[in-house]
Amino acid sequence: MSDKGSVQRGTLYVFSAPSGCGKGTVLKEVRKASSRLVFSVSATTRQPRPGEVDGVDYHFVTKESFNELVRTGGMLEYAIFVDNYYGTPKDRVMSALDSGSDVILEIETAGAMMVKALYPEAVLIFMLPPSVEELKTRLIKRGTDSLEVIDKRVSQAMREISLACNYDYVFVNDRLDEAVQDMLSIMKAARLGVRQNKDLIKGVLKRC
Ligand code: 5GP
Repeated sequence: MSDKGSVQRGTLYVFSAPSGCGKGTVLKEVRKASSRLVFSVSATTRQPRPGEVDGVDYHFVTKESFNELVRTGGMLEYAIFVDNYYGTPKDRVMSALDSGSDVILEIETAGAMMVKALYPEAVLIFMLPPSVEELKTRLIKRGTDSLEVIDKRVSQAMREISLACNYDYVFVNDRLDEAVQDMLSIMKAARLGVRQNKDLIKGVLKRC
């Protein structure tokens, strides 16, 4: 972990879960409980769903401007998911980390692996559904995708779940309150990890 002046660099959390697993709901509660956490807003080429706001839920962009960001090195990571591009604009994440804020990326597994390769100090958290059947039921109930897209998302979910072993932490979203507590506990444990606190140890030794 690098330093900028005397500021301890923030922790980068990468959070993945299959589509329809309830990521948004869990993150909404996490946001309430940790107001200083910075949520990265991704860029995507997919169409907004009803109620989604440009610049808040995503930066909704054309394929051309997405590719331009990739070409000019403006993306921290990116991936194709069910026929659309998704990526994390680099600048905001880096400046937040440099100023000591903790940042969370909500991204799929290929992007998460890219982040882990570039920033091994990132903390990778995977949330599982109780079962694949339950996931399909939730996607149907959500009512935002056609059956064809739902089938693609379920197949993608199974591929993603098989990659959960590459993450640092895993938990199940069965009951919302328990899932939120699990997520907050993981984040607290990660913050207290030795990797994240080498400067703290040095600081105490200096005062001896
Ligand atoms: P949705 O279309 O349901 O909003 O998102 C589809 C998938 O793309 C989800 O698994 C979500 O976590 C992932 N995703 C969202 N933003 C990004 C991003 O910036 N990069 C990557 N790699 N995946 C993302």
